[in-house]
Parts: sequence; structure tokens; C-alpha cells
Amino acid sequence: MSDSGGNDVIEELRAWLADNWDPDLTITQWWDRLGLAGWSAPTWPVEWFGKGVSRDEANAISREISEFGAIGAPAGLGLLLAGPTIVTHGTDEQRMAFLPDIVTGKQSWCQLFSEPGAGSDLAGLQAKAVRDGDEWVVNGQKVWTSGAQVADLGMLLARSDADVPKHAGISYFGIEMNQPGMDVRPLREMTGRALFSEVFMTDVRVDNAALIGGLNNGWAVANTTLANERAGLGAGGGGAVGNASPGTKAGFLDKRAGDCVSGGRSGTRGALSGRSASMMVDLARVMGVVGDASLRQDLMRLYSLNEIARYTNLRAKAAKEAGRAPGPAANTAKLSMSRITRLSRDLGMAIVGAGGMLSGHDAPLNGMITEMALFSPAVSIYGGSDEIQKNIIGERVLGLPSEPRPDKGVPFKDLKVGTQG
Ligand SMILES: Cc1cc2nc3c(=O)[nH]c(=O)nc-3n(C[C@H](O)[C@H](O)[C@H](O)COP(=O)(O)OP(=O)(O)OC[C@H]3O[C@@H](n4cnc5c(N)ncnc54)[C@H](O)[C@@H]3O)c2cc1C
Repeated sequence: MSDSGGNDVIEELRAWLADNWDPDLTITQWWDRLGLAGWSAPTWPVEWFGKGVSRDEANAISREISEFGAIGAPAGLGLLLAGPTIVTHGTDEQRMAFLPDIVTGKQSWCQLFSEPGAGSDLAGLQAKAVRDGDEWVVNGQKVWTSGAQVADLGMLLARSDADVPKHAGISYFGIEMNQPGMDVRPLREMTGRALFSEVFMTDVRVDNAALIGGLNNGWAVANTTLANERAGLGAGGGGAVGNASPGTKAGFLDKRAGDCVSGGRSGTRGALSGRSASMMVDLARVMGVVGDASLRQDLMRLYSLNEIARYTNLRAKAAKEAGRAPGPAANTAKLSMSRITRLSRDLGMAIVGAGGMLSGHDAPLNGMITEMALFSPAVSIYGGSDEIQKNIIGERVLGLPSEPRPDKGVPFKDLKVGTQG
């Protein structure tokens, strides 16, 4: 029995799963059923492939699908970021064009925002879009594009007007990744994986019909994407299930659904989540070091930080339910996740000792601790770096004077740094 979420909707889901789940379906057939019935994106409005339920209820739905033993929603940046952005800012035509393929996992998305010179200062981006009849021609470079290698579509931010201040001349497009001039070059990280890529765009094209949220309104649209990104990061995932990824390039769509059922996501994810304290205690027991006084101090610290984060989250939720602003909690969640990640990394390495230098099956916990340590710097960078979060807390929560913004009101083309090349 699920412990949260509306019981009616869970009852409805159980009956639906009993009627519809069949391990002999292909992933395509299963996700068609799941997505078009509203179970892939249950927080979206009913008229746009959702169920109109709360995030808590959506988490309960995700858990229920997992407990039933079926494959969960086609998780990825389409469902997490592009979909909610298009629900909010798209026209009905754009919703019909993009949302069905997102909820049924037929197409996957990547986020073409950051550039070599525009990460924290995202509004300084230089990729340029020039109108050509019913299309736009785009030139420029993106970087750190997660999943670009397997993406069918990209959420593209490009400068469509350099004569106005930097935030005011950006447009947001849904662009085809499979086209001449779109050069995706994977970047190898120290984990050994290549989770993200550089993307070079040379005269790539995007239809004006895929301009989302209106001309030069890209900054507002991007903020919706970023708000969903932070909410997703803060939520720590809803327990999505299955070992299948969406899109035409990931290679899962023709597989038998029953062969893709698995017990959940990777261990790294678990280690970086609220379960990290109990996992570290178990690990310390197994390694025979749970009696070590200094480790015990840190285990307690990790437990406390996790509990503080949990209560802060509950306070923010209660404020929201009571119709109040979430307050500083929303701004501190990401920073707190960074601290927890760093402490988990240090503790994990201290517990496994020299074994932390191994990777793969020879390493403790199949290398999960090593991988977590190597991945840990990412958490304080993506979704807004720690320093940027501190700036936000300083300015918006503590009311400190804002950073000097000499570029405010200056046309982008007249900026000393960040002029178009
Ligand atoms: C795992 C991972 C996945 C990512 N996936 C994507 C993706 O899919 N799509 C995408 O578009 N981007 C992605 N990014 C990029 C990410 O959004 C940027 O790395 C991030 O915004 C920081 O930008 P930057 O790397 O250019 O660093 P910079 O902005 O150059 O910052 C460098 C350093 O300076 C500090 N700094 C910058 N400005 C200030 C300031 N005003 N005050 C104080 N300190 C400051 C920063 O905190 C940082 O320490 C990803 C990053 C990571 C790590």
C-alpha cells in the first residue's frame, strides 16, 4: 500500500496496470499505453497527457508502478524539462507536436543552454539564430550537453536579437538533433563515462513553428526549464523504474518490456540521496569500521544533514500547501545537497580505504563508492553552482546589496565581453 498520494488515483492506477501491463509488449507499445493514459507525466494537465495530480501523488504513482513490477515512465530531459516548459509556454499546436512523443518516450531531448563562455552567466550566450523565411539558421557552440549523443531534439537557447540587452534578445527553440551541421562530440569525464558532449552547430535549421514562447522571450521560457530542473534535483527522483531510456538512439524501443524491468536506478543515485546515511552505516559495519570514533562523528553529521534537509523540505511543502511562499528553503536545498554529497564522498572513501581506488567489480560495492567520489564535483556545479546559489541567498533571502551589473540595459552587441563573433 502506498503511503502517500490520493488513494483514488492509486486505485485507478492499480486497476489500469492489471489490465494493461504485459511483459511481452515492446517498450514502444508499453510506453504508448502508459503515456497516452496519463501515467507518464501525471502532474501535467489532463488535457495534455497528464492526470493533474500533485508532485507527491506523482511520486506515489511512480512507486506503485515499481511495486507492481512494470516499467516506469520514459524518464529523461523530455519528461523532466522540455515537456513542462512546452505545457507552460507552447501553443496548442506545439503541445500536440511535441508532448505525445515525450510521454511515450519516442523521442529524447537534451538541453542546449550552456556555452564555453556562458554557464553561470547564461544570458551572455552567443549562439546566433537568424530568420530565413519560415526557418531559423543557427550557428554557435554548446557545451556540457547531457545526453546529446542520444537525443532526438534539443531545447535550444540562441540569440535572436543583439541590439537589445542580453536577457531580452534570446529565443527558445525545439531543434532536431539529427541534421547536417549538428556535430555532437562526447566529452570523457573522470568517471570514465561520457555523459555529456560539446555540440557544434553550423548552419543548422529550425522551423519557426518550433520557436517556443514567442520571439525574444527565451529568457522567461528558459527560467521555466531551470525551475523544473531545480525542482527535479531537489526532489531526488521519484523512484522511477526500469532499465529503458527513451528516444530513437538509445536502442530500447524495440526491446521486450519484461526484459527491461529492474530493481531501480543506479547505486550512485542512492548514495547521493537521502538514504546515504543508513547506506554508509551499513557499509561501515560490513567493512568492520563502525566502531571508529571519528567515522562515527561524520556518520552522525551526515545523518543530521539528511534529516535537516528532509525537515526543510517538509516545511517548504507545508508552506506551499498553505498557500504561502516556500521561503528560503527552496534556495538552500541545492546547497545542502552539495554539502551532503561532499560528506558522503569523504565518508565513503574513508570507510572503504584503499579499496576506493579500485573500480568495477573488484571494488567495494561494485565500485559505487569510487564512482560517487569521482562524480561528486558535478553536484555543486550543475543546476547553478554553489557560488551562484550563495549569491541568490545573499540577494533574495538576506537582502544584501546585489552584485554590480554593468551590462544592465546595454545592447548585447555593445558589451565589452560577450559580443558576437
Ligand atoms: C554533470 C553536469 C551536467 C550538465 N548538463 C548540462 C546540460 O545538459 N545542458 C547545459 O546547457 N548545461 C549543462 N551543464 C552545465 C552547467 O549548467 C554549467 O556547468 C554551470 O551553469 C556552470 O557554468 P560553467 O561551467 O560555465 O562555470 P562558470 O560559470 O564559468 O563558473 C566558473 C566558476 O566561477 C564561479 N562563478 C561564476 N560566476 C560567479 C559569480 N557571479 N559569483 C561567484 N562565483 C561565480 C562558479 O561558481 C564556478 O565556481 C552541466 C554541468 C554538469 C556539471
